[in-house]
Amino acid sequence: MSETIFDKIIAKEIPADIVFEDDHVLAFRDINPQAPVHVLVIPKKKMVSMADAKDRSALELGEYMQRISKVAAELNLDAEGYRVVFNHGQNGGQTVDYIHAHILGGRNLTWPPG
Ligand code: IMP
Repeated sequence: MSETIFDKIIAKEIPADIVFEDDHVLAFRDINPQAPVHVLVIPKKKMVSMADAKDRSALELGEYMQRISKVAAELNLDAEGYRVVFNHGQNGGQTVDYIHAHILGGRNLTWPPG
């Protein structure tokens, strides 16, 4: 597994605008936001992409999902709504090989995505 920029953010080797951290995840603002609120949530136990999730425990994945929901709530997005996106692979538009949930909010998001 090659080291990515998100490995370096987790290791605190490069700075990030961190909004939440605990034993399971790190959440930080996207450097190129696509909405007024754009936060990435990454698990500390690395997965490269959604393709890895099928081999992980329900507990581990549940902890991750629970933190995504918690971060969105702490960003005050529950009332107005938000979107959670996982890009996988080339067609999905994944550019960093470390799984990350995009939380996007603060504007009316169109559907379908591009
Ligand atoms: P992907 O296209 O789903 O892989 O999303 C990668 C995201 O990481 C993009 O939205 C980038 O703007 C974001 N990104 C890349 N480098 C950094 C960084 O150093 N800090 C915060 N976000 C980053």
